[in-house]
Amino acid sequence: LTVLTGVHKWYGDLHVLRGVDLQVRRGEVVAIIGPSGSGKSTLLRCVNMLEQPSSGAVLFKGRDVTDVRVDLDRLRSRMGIVFQNYNLFPHLSVLENITLALRHVRGLGKTAAVDRALSELERVGLAEKSGAHPGRLSGGQQQRVAIARALAMRPDMLLCDEITSALDPELVGEVLQVLRDLAESHMTMIVVTHEMGFAREVASRLVFMDGGVIVEQGVPRDLLSNPQTERLQRFLSLVV
Ligand code: ATP
Ligand code: MG
Repeated sequence: LTVLTGVHKWYGDLHVLRGVDLQVRRGEVVAIIGPSGSGKSTLLRCVNMLEQPSSGAVLFKGRDVTDVRVDLDRLRSRMGIVFQNYNLFPHLSVLENITLALRHVRGLGKTAAVDRALSELERVGLAEKSGAHPGRLSGGQQQRVAIARALAMRPDMLLCDEITSALDPELVGEVLQVLRDLAESHMTMIVVTHEMGFAREVASRLVFMDGGVIVEQGVPRDLLSNPQTERLQRFLSLVV
């Protein structure tokens, strides 16, 4: 479904991604772990072209997304992204947050957009909050709205960047549960996370990044119990 080949990213003189090769097949849940500054967010942002890779190729469903002729709004609606800080529009209701892109990017009529938004809100357990503004919701609820908004576009893949990092500990579980349900329904996902328990249980593959490269990847249990490199050993000794 998604193939990154030799992806490099420079910010000025800073060489942030140093040749990343990664394949994500349909239905896979790939968890990315690694120290702060290792390039995890930059990698996700290169996948959906929020950042332009400096070199290398990113194929999504057989098309090179770095091609200037690619319609980026359409592309991004096919790969939903959810961030640490929700990025909901504060002046719009929960429902309007979800219907906005459905109407303007997908071109759905009002009734169809509202129906779909409500069914996605139901999926994340928030149907009764559709009229509320984001500021009235807990962090966990806001994050579930952000997930519902991405899912409403019927994406082929969901990208999540540390989506539980800003949450109080007691709210982390409800958001991870939504991701678990999605994984069970075979949604393809790339999830940057430092929730090692989640990564071990839910991810089909774990990818360890350090210094802008993928240092190790494999089945989560194997990687976590038997790291092959000193760098991953050191990282795990700090986070687990
Ligand atoms: P964290 O775990 O802290 O989120 P990360 O692995 O996601 O870290 P990135 O956000 O990808 O790391 O950043 C990698 C490096 O690129 C860092 O040194 C960061 O300062 C730098 N960087 C990221 N975005 C930009 C930007 N827009 N301009 C310049 N440098 C950037
Ligand atoms: Mg990051």
